[in-house]
Amino acid sequence: MDLRTWLGNATTAFGTWAGGFGEYQAHPALHVEDDKFAAAFAELTERLAGDNPYFHPRYAGQMQKPPHPAAVVGYLTTMLNNPNNHALDGGPATAKMEREVVAQLATMFGFGTHLGHLTSSGTIANLEALFVARETHPGKGIAYSAESHYTHPRMCHVLGIPSYKVPVDKTGKMDLNALDHLLSSEDIGTVVMTAGTTSLGVVEPIHEALALKEKYGVRIHVDAAYGGFHTLLAEPNGPWQAIARCDSVVVDPHKHGLQPYGCGAVLFSDPAVGRFYLHDSPYTYFTSEELHPGEISLECSRSGASAAAFWLTLKLFPLTRSGLGEVLAAGRRAALEFAVLIDESDEFTLYQRPELDIVTYFAGDSMSAIDKDSDRILHAGMTDPDDPVYVSTMRVTADAMTARHPGVAADVDAGRILRSVLMKPEEEFYVRQLHSRLTGLITGQERPRG
Ligand SMILES: *Cc1c(COP(=O)(O)O)cnc(C)c1O
Repeated sequence: MDLRTWLGNATTAFGTWAGGFGEYQAHPALHVEDDKFAAAFAELTERLAGDNPYFHPRYAGQMQKPPHPAAVVGYLTTMLNNPNNHALDGGPATAKMEREVVAQLATMFGFGTHLGHLTSSGTIANLEALFVARETHPGKGIAYSAESHYTHPRMCHVLGIPSYKVPVDKTGKMDLNALDHLLSSEDIGTVVMTAGTTSLGVVEPIHEALALKEKYGVRIHVDAAYGGFHTLLAEPNGPWQAIARCDSVVVDPHKHGLQPYGCGAVLFSDPAVGRFYLHDSPYTYFTSEELHPGEISLECSRSGASAAAFWLTLKLFPLTRSGLGEVLAAGRRAALEFAVLIDESDEFTLYQRPELDIVTYFAGDSMSAIDKDSDRILHAGMTDPDDPVYVSTMRVTADAMTARHPGVAADVDAGRILRSVLMKPEEEFYVRQLHSRLTGLITGQERPRG
């Protein structure tokens, strides 16, 4: 699909619909001369030139990539009228689309019943899940692993919930023996498990934690903001299937669902948790007996365009292995191939084997040298004017390093290693180039031309 054509079609479709409501006089207060706009626009594009090329496979740094053109067209077409999914009156068409996409997410996770909605981010989605955790288990604490997203301790603080950090094993996953011990000694109501940790991209053993859920009667909330859509690639009888038996789950369509920022989602398996959101707004809900989206969300105004963009995207990339799953599988293959290239090369060592599409690696044999080289590669890569390459770094403790690589000298307590998120399917065709480019940077060699 050609974006230029379809952006034109979007404005035409909107114009046709809008025309049905009759002529009205444009207001001069909003008038902008074309040449004045051209100048401002030129300044904008100049400012944006300083950005990193998130769309290009040479950007293999953080969790960032552009939305699919279908999402762009869906968003823009809808945004021209700017529906608000706070209330059914604010966006009847898009509120319905939101309900449909949330139902599709519920099916993907195997939820039999559900209550859920889109949010503006994974942060807000997790905040809502922890809020419901507090309401269902008042006074009780929340436990999360040391590798969970920093939003969990922060939101526990916001919500005034006692929180507990569970240590991780040497693959960076919650240590269930430590969790068992914690649950037996502290008053905990909810455990947060992460499916696709932000740094290493590992999936915590949700299926094995189900026994502890039974034993202690705790709830399990799954933070699958990053990894959630990888459930489409799941092997049987693992952590992904176990999500169906958990109490809530968060997934970010703006990470692996091809959406622009502003699209997270939270789902609860028990629709009755809707009672915790009850509020009475005298002026918003008046057209329907149905539950308005704003009645089950902590956020008020929410983008209807966001729901429409995701709805349109799922028409083309349904939540199946052969639909959106194909997109994720390519990134996963890229990560596996990148790991093999690292294994076979002398310059780099794999920090640990990738489970999803995030690869962590390093060069050197002491913590201090590894840290220095990681920083050097990060900067040399992104400042090369002719052939830039973008990776990210992450801090690991010397203990975490030596647990995986006993040969590394722990001369300092912690240091940075390299990390590449290969979440674009195009990485599959670029990964050899990426590897040889990084190898060139580490050995200080001139990169091969041509
Ligand atoms: C990205 C992420 C979040 C935060 O989500 P935002 O959409 O950035 O607010 C929370 N948890 C995990 C595991 C994440 O990867």
